[in-house]
Amino acid sequence: MNAGPGDVDDDGAGEEAERKMRFLFQLRQRGVTEPAVLAAMEKIDRGEFVRGQFSDRAYEDTPLPIPCGQTISQPSVVGLMTQALEVGPRDTVLEIGTGSGYQAAVLAGLCRRIYTVDRHRRLVTEAEALFRRLGLTNITAQVADGSRGLPEQAPFDRIIVTAAAEDAPGPLLAQLKIGGIMVVPVGQSDAVQTLIRVRRHEGGFDYDELRQVRFVPLVEGLGQT
Ligand code: SAH
Repeated sequence: MNAGPGDVDDDGAGEEAERKMRFLFQLRQRGVTEPAVLAAMEKIDRGEFVRGQFSDRAYEDTPLPIPCGQTISQPSVVGLMTQALEVGPRDTVLEIGTGSGYQAAVLAGLCRRIYTVDRHRRLVTEAEALFRRLGLTNITAQVADGSRGLPEQAPFDRIIVTAAAEDAPGPLLAQLKIGGIMVVPVGQSDAVQTLIRVRRHEGGFDYDELRQVRFVPLVEGLGQT
């Protein structure tokens, strides 16, 4: 039988399903096992967030370059950080480091509202356009120096920092609710950093170390572009 247009469509759909299966398999293998997190990641196509010469590598478990000299994180790290954040459907989340917008888009499926800030205007503008196109209406992106948090919307149930700080920034700790959780990579920017989880309780903060990671540095002040 000759291949008709229907067969061509089926092949496309088949390829996409296989790519998705491989992507989710990789995540599970690297420890992303929480069903809600896997479901949220299944819904967001990473290919939308990687453009240009690297777009054909969007489904590999690797960080990739994005504009302004920044990087979109590795999918398994996005998954593990999302999992560590223990986000609930009523939570208000703050993300420092919008970057491509991928991490915010994944979190948007799990929480009530997410505020995401970046020091580069270009990244915020491009991410906002993507959120609009994908119909992700519970994300608010804005240009701000995230090392100061976002005092006008504080306090937050969850805070995720996707750039490396030398230590958990004081203003962010102060903007975390009692019972809240913050996930942040800490350590020197040019070395391997430690991803830590901070839980705030009535009497103070508990810290636990999760794993080694590598992030671009948290830089104070706004970017030039
Ligand atoms: N979460 C992103 C990846 C972030 S890369 C994603 O899913 O694609 C780290 C980002 O942190 C960069 O975009 C960088 O511009 C931003 N950043 C660094 N220091 C910052 C600061 N002080 N305030 C806000 N954003 C900052």
